[in-house]
Amino acid sequence: MNRNVNSALADWLVRGGEKIGQIAVAHVHAGWELRHVEDAARTDLALHENADAARHIANLDAAGNFRPLKTAPTLVRGWRLVLPDAAAVRRALDYFYPAMTGVWLSHTRGELVPVVLRNTLARQTGMYRVTQKLTDAQARTLIDGLCAGCLKHRLWEIAAPNSERPSFPKNSLPLLCHEACNLLVAKAREAVKKAGGSA
Ligand code: SF4
Repeated sequence: MNRNVNSALADWLVRGGEKIGQIAVAHVHAGWELRHVEDAARTDLALHENADAARHIANLDAAGNFRPLKTAPTLVRGWRLVLPDAAAVRRALDYFYPAMTGVWLSHTRGELVPVVLRNTLARQTGMYRVTQKLTDAQARTLIDGLCAGCLKHRLWEIAAPNSERPSFPKNSLPLLCHEACNLLVAKAREAVKKAGGSA
């Protein structure tokens, strides 16, 4: 799968791929350059030449706070990453937006199956089992709060499967959410507890 993703990403890059979330990608003499989309015109960016630098860049927001949701639109500015090939770009992207290149490839192949929230919650055990008591209204509030502050395109619904298969601009690699993340499940637990539900 790794090799397939690298090769699909290489293909996307040479066909003019230029944007992933808040990251702009461009072909440069030494390979591929990644920088924050809002830093397009800057010439004073700190240069990094190792994909592992992405881990540190992605870790904290501009105020120095940990970013638990890597797809929140809070990526720091002021850096550029120059990498030799698609495999290195893929490694960096896995730090910036974990698993998103693999999910994108599954989507392009028509293999990505969204999981409705009720099924995600039905699988929870231990302290998260209580999330099965989440009401539709509570779920909607979580989606309107947490998911609204996330760059991923949400493919799942609360109960009914969503058969729509959206398409995206070819130059933009979409960030896709096919199943509720751990943060949303944790928030679901908080909502149920706050409303008086028990484990
Ligand atoms: S559930 Fe998906 S869309 Fe919502 S915050 Fe988590 S990753 Fe983002």
